Amino acid sequence: MQVYDVIIIGAGPGGLAAGLYAGRSRLNTLLIEKEKDGGQIVITSEIENYPGCLDEESGSSLIARMTKQVEKFGVERVKDNIEKVDFTGDTKVLYGKNGEYHARAVIIATGAFPRPIGCPGEKELIGKGVSYCATCDGNFFEDMDIYVVGGGDTAVEEAMYLTKFGRKVTVIHRRDELRAAKSIREKAFKNPKMNFMWDSVVTEIGGDGMVEYMVVKNVKTGEETRIDAPEEDGTFGIFGFIGFLPQSGMFEGAVELENGYIPTNEKMETNVPGVFAVGDIRVKDVRQVVTAAADGAIAALMAEKYLEH
Ligand code: NAP
Repeated sequence: MQVYDVIIIGAGPGGLAAGLYAGRSRLNTLLIEKEKDGGQIVITSEIENYPGCLDEESGSSLIARMTKQVEKFGVERVKDNIEKVDFTGDTKVLYGKNGEYHARAVIIATGAFPRPIGCPGEKELIGKGVSYCATCDGNFFEDMDIYVVGGGDTAVEEAMYLTKFGRKVTVIHRRDELRAAKSIREKAFKNPKMNFMWDSVVTEIGGDGMVEYMVVKNVKTGEETRIDAPEEDGTFGIFGFIGFLPQSGMFEGAVELENGYIPTNEKMETNVPGVFAVGDIRVKDVRQVVTAAADGAIAALMAEKYLEH
């Protein structure tokens, strides 16, 4: 049975930074990712707030460079979905769909996934007009109407990116004030292609094989409006950016959770010795690429110290 020094679960910015530091420290490291590297950041069209990233840096181009750097330091990689863990012994056991993995220390970097809008018809029409990724799907709506649900930084930034494609982008927000940072709001209000539907929520999405209509309710007046796709287009895009859900189900009972997020101290230690958590899965105020990467570096160095003792 192979026992790694460290296993990192998740290859977003936090997991990749942890991999880089663990690899560089010559720890025998395995990085497990269930899908593609990058996590949420690969769905970000433009990154202008990660130090060193200048114009034209996208989430996926930044992640591609991070992945390459991790490979350079000899970190082993495996594609698997961890479904259960046992952190009770000195050797931690991870049970994946494809196999079982053992390590003396574990760094959890599983992040979070987009929260669904939560209305009838949404699930059935994912990829058929409903999307959670502007970079992936924006170009399907060239010169069409696009709607974005949400009022935070992500919703407003991605809505502005989508103005490159759509003839009109409408942000549907449940309040009459955006949550997005002032600098982002100001840019959005100046963009002539941007429109806002305030105090509104989407209550239904429908269509035969693709989005053809949706129903939007004004939460103040209770009035419901049905929005149909213009005849010449036949469809329109609905992008949901209303926050994220932590991917921590597999750690229930194994590590302390707070509303699904993992509390740590500033060394990224969880309540279980030898188990660390980094990035968006942590209880924290600022969820950014730069903070996830910093968490990853700290966790790997602290894991090294833990293993020495
Ligand atoms: P967020 O800040 O949690 O905003 C979520 C938005 O969705 C809020 O406007 C919220 O409305 C709305 N919402 C939540 N649940 C809803 C529901 N069930 N139905 C309708 N609307 C709903 O999420 P985020 O924008 O993804 O940002 C996450 C974190 O990443 C934040 O810390 C943010 O600052 C950061 N971020 C930073 C940048 C940047 O600095 N450039 C870019 C992207 C993200 P209310 O406002 O009414 O609560």
